[in-house]
Amino acid sequence: MPKTGSEIRESFLKYFEAKGHTRVASSALIPKDDPTLLFTNAGMVQFKNAFLGLEKRGYARAASCQKCVRAGGKHNDLENVGVTSRHHTFFEMLGNFSFSDYFKEEAIAWAWEYLIDIVKLPKEKLWVTIYKDDDDAFAIWNKKMKVPKDRIVRMGEKNNFWMMGETGPCGPCSEIIYDQGKGTGCGRAECDLNCGCDRYLEIWNLVFTQFDRDEKGKLTPLAKPSIDTGMGLERLTAIIQGVKSNYDTDFFTPVIRLVEKTSGKPYGKNTDNDVSIRVIADHSRAVTFLIGDGILPANDGRGYVLRRILRRAARHGKLIGINKPFLHESARVVIDMMKHVYPDLADKASYITKVILNEEQRFMETLDAGLRILQEETAELKKAGKSVLPGAQVFKLYDTFGFPTDLTADIVKRDGFTLDNEGFEAEMEQQRERARGAWKGSGEEAVAECYLKASSSGIVTEFCGYEGVTKAESKVVAIFVKGQSVQSADKGQNAEIVLTMTPFYGESGGQTGDTGYLEGTGFNFTVLDTKRPVENFIVHKGIVQKGKIKIGDTAHLIVDEERRKAIAANHSGTHILQAALKAVLGDHIKQSGSLVNAERLRFDFTHFSKISDEELQRVEDIANDMIRRNLPVQTEVCALEEALKTGATAVFDEKYGAAVRIVKMGEMSKELCGGTHVHRTGELGLLKVIHESAIAAGVRRIEAVTGREALTHVQKMEEGLKGTAGLFKASLFEVYDRAEKILKQYRELEKENEALKGKLAAKDSGDLMSQAREIGGVKVLAAEVSIADARTLRDFGDKLRDKMESGVILLGSKANDKAMLLCMVTKDLAGKYHAGNIIKELAPLVGGSGGGRPDMAQAGGTQPENLSKVFPALEKIMIK
Ligand code: ATP
Ligand code: MG
Repeated sequence: MPKTGSEIRESFLKYFEAKGHTRVASSALIPKDDPTLLFTNAGMVQFKNAFLGLEKRGYARAASCQKCVRAGGKHNDLENVGVTSRHHTFFEMLGNFSFSDYFKEEAIAWAWEYLIDIVKLPKEKLWVTIYKDDDDAFAIWNKKMKVPKDRIVRMGEKNNFWMMGETGPCGPCSEIIYDQGKGTGCGRAECDLNCGCDRYLEIWNLVFTQFDRDEKGKLTPLAKPSIDTGMGLERLTAIIQGVKSNYDTDFFTPVIRLVEKTSGKPYGKNTDNDVSIRVIADHSRAVTFLIGDGILPANDGRGYVLRRILRRAARHGKLIGINKPFLHESARVVIDMMKHVYPDLADKASYITKVILNEEQRFMETLDAGLRILQEETAELKKAGKSVLPGAQVFKLYDTFGFPTDLTADIVKRDGFTLDNEGFEAEMEQQRERARGAWKGSGEEAVAECYLKASSSGIVTEFCGYEGVTKAESKVVAIFVKGQSVQSADKGQNAEIVLTMTPFYGESGGQTGDTGYLEGTGFNFTVLDTKRPVENFIVHKGIVQKGKIKIGDTAHLIVDEERRKAIAANHSGTHILQAALKAVLGDHIKQSGSLVNAERLRFDFTHFSKISDEELQRVEDIANDMIRRNLPVQTEVCALEEALKTGATAVFDEKYGAAVRIVKMGEMSKELCGGTHVHRTGELGLLKVIHESAIAAGVRRIEAVTGREALTHVQKMEEGLKGTAGLFKASLFEVYDRAEKILKQYRELEKENEALKGKLAAKDSGDLMSQAREIGGVKVLAAEVSIADARTLRDFGDKLRDKMESGVILLGSKANDKAMLLCMVTKDLAGKYHAGNIIKELAPLVGGSGGGRPDMAQAGGTQPENLSKVFPALEKIMIK
């Protein structure tokens, strides 16, 4: 009998393999086929198209163990986590599926056989629910499986009828439920299957997809119905291991042990602590798997869900007395526990833990301050008899301290507080207003407005510059001068021209705008830049060189072809670079920004650690390999959903129209992109990385050059190296060794020099001592020396003082048009003379200022010619 969680997972998959199912690996937590879904939340998600008949797979029966997250969107169990013993944000769902193959009878029989015969659940504790009208299911359970009829409960649409969407495939379900006994859950006499407590534990849901639903809600039976089932692995494991809570299974205990150790709080002794420990154990798994699948903490979308989960766990750590980052350590335990099933976790282990540690540290910086403010605020409100936290306060915590609102809600819940969500939303809206206001003030508004007016009046520009087209003929339809729409522009005027069609690429998607010229009868216009401020609206910015350009004129448009080619090469270069980065660093690489112009390309992407020289070289190798293979660059236009299905890389927050363009380079690269590209990768000639750096937490930047620029770059480096080699009288390949040797010699000489200087100074100080005089019973040494730097002057002064034993020293020197002063007072005279004060008085004489300690002070001045005035002045001070 399977006993450990892993054995149970395996026994399920084996059982269904024996029943003719193909074992299919879990898909990622980011659903590939469904851009509308936040996270994969059930086993059927990866089979959606197979169910809809849109996709043919090589099998009609499948079984899987699917990674699921229910912490955002339609399915959100976040609030339940830690409170119930059966809900998680991350869990694994076992499932068997039939795509128009077997149906209800087999699905029920096999589920029952697996539970009773394979994992040996006691029949007498099992219940089943069915949809109220599903007499077939009743008959199968009652007649064939011999489940007594009082154990078969009919339920309504809400619980037992499943729909994929408003329309489409749907059908009744049947759930298998395990009664944990009176001692578990709410303990009420009337507790039954409808109760939300832990007693009646739903383990398996069988969905019988047998209808098609139309817009009016009419159900038409499907000719070939399907099966979709889902069973929580953690719940099944808890039952098999004879424990009442998922948290007592081997999926959680290693993490709980670590949390106990770190916090010093034992699990199972205090209700509040236990909730925190469970939350941490659960969230440790979720953040590990989410980051492993390429999500990074962010302020919106999936990244925000991750951030909320992570911060919530961090705060629960604080509640049980953990005052340092610790989640990166519990994630390590999760990785070790799960890597045999999900080997990619092992590959990404250091990346995952780094992302977590970084986010923990960021949050630690504000957590304490935020909690303090929150505590003060709630104490005040309580005194005033209030129980709602004002929106402004919630907003401040969100905005300044990084507290997601649900975290704040969770914190104040224990004190009986709720949040003023409306007030919070109003604050958020105000902030958005302020952001817009700041934008308005930037001076771009007037210009944008004239564009908007023109474009909304129906003026559109068709872009005809793909496929290497750089020339066209077209009609002038709008002219702007200084943000105003005008009829014409004259020689010498800066103007912006809009035409019905253009081969000029307007800056967008990081690619710079084209330059070139427009010419027509009686005019010539140089295009210095091209913009695309509005969709389908391209503006040529430049200057009228000759004549007058008028609305209605016909113009020949000529793009600077050489420059366009260089830009195209750099744009294709970014795609190649991205593919190479993915190949070397992993699939978590996502573009977070890019810039492409004629000189170089810049690519920003998500990655946590520094990129080693060796990795960078491999990236260059792969990129140049793609170039030498001279891959064809192909483009196709299709609907966004289609494009995402094919696995094309999309930048998440970039907006794509309904129809998108995919740019493909061989099998290595496939991206949604509207830019202009080379025809074959060979046109790049060479791609050379010139700079790599970090620009924000988790975001790195690579700059590179291609084509002629790349060659120039290499030539320049060679030139520099040649010059150096010439200096060292070595060949290019020997110069390093030679330089290293000479540097070593140089350091040795430097040391020797220091030693000699010391010796000389000791000798000089001996000579100088003879100049010491006695003033008012104190030995005073005042002298000009020729020492050029402050440190040496100080060292020299130290030596003199040691020799003098008791007295006052004033040294002056001239160096590079500057004067330097140093004063020292021996210890025994402290209280009588103050070096700092002496310098303060003397420094102005040489045009400077300064001060310092009672025993030592230094100053600089701009009038070295006055140095001689200083020494008599000292005498006066001494006598005073
Ligand atoms: P519940 O009512 O207990 O929240 P559900 O009806 O939402 O469950 P389904 O959507 O039918 O569950 O998912 C199928 C199975 O997945 C469930 O029977 C259960 O075993 C498991 N499951 C669902 N949600 C979770 C969760 N948040 N954590 C762990 N297991 C879950
Ligand atoms: Mg649920």
